[in-house]
Amino acid sequence: MRHTIIAGNWKMNLDLEESIELAKSISKNIENKELNSNNVKVIVSPNLIALSSVVNELKNTEIQVSSQNIYHKESGAYTGEVSAKMVKSAGVNTVIIGHSERRAIFGDSDQEVKSKVNSAISNGMDIIFCIGETLEQRKSKKEFDIIKAQLEQGLLHLSTEQMKSIVIAYEPVWAIGTGETASDSQAQEMHKYIRTVIKDSYNEKTSENTHILYGGSVKPSNAKGLFACSDIDGALIGGASLKADVFCEIINIAL
Ligand code: PEP
Repeated sequence: MRHTIIAGNWKMNLDLEESIELAKSISKNIENKELNSNNVKVIVSPNLIALSSVVNELKNTEIQVSSQNIYHKESGAYTGEVSAKMVKSAGVNTVIIGHSERRAIFGDSDQEVKSKVNSAISNGMDIIFCIGETLEQRKSKKEFDIIKAQLEQGLLHLSTEQMKSIVIAYEPVWAIGTGETASDSQAQEMHKYIRTVIKDSYNEKTSENTHILYGGSVKPSNAKGLFACSDIDGALIGGASLKADVFCEIINIAL
């Protein structure tokens, strides 16, 4: 049985104090909401400087913390990078891998994404695995091929057991940070397709048990329609996760 996941990706926003403040405001805002018993899981993803402090701030709450990235190596001469083991030592057990900003700006190839997945899995971490097509790819009707290729090249080598650690986030690149959202039917159509690809690679049970989030300009005004779609299990939220009241309004829609 799947639950709803509302995940906030704070990206490279907020300094240490602001991050702790936002975490505090979110937890205060949804105090007594009994997320777990309502089948809703909330995750926030601060920058690396704030990771440990936000974990500490949220330690007595039901809100989980994820990292926005890892490097696939365990340790060594990789200036500026952090490993799965290092973010785990900060009390973080989930990592976002394959975000389109990582792919487009930092050159994370499908091979690199796959290596990061393997590193996270071998360190016992859960993964929010992001995939999505560009506007050009959608205009040329290649969106299903692109999504299938991203899944095949980065994820579908995992075993059925390892797939239990995976949450997929479908984030059409043209909808990220643009104010443009996929319509409910466009999103549902792709989520259903992703489930079919998983079923063909594994089995019906793995497909039905895999959480698939939608991401791309999710806000209170469009969340209700998206969450009502049968194959959409919540959202990965950028801009609208930076204000506690807005983020919590979306959480309340999921509750
Ligand atoms: C994201 O970065 O994952 C995202 C979906 O951003 P936004 O909600 O701002 O479009």
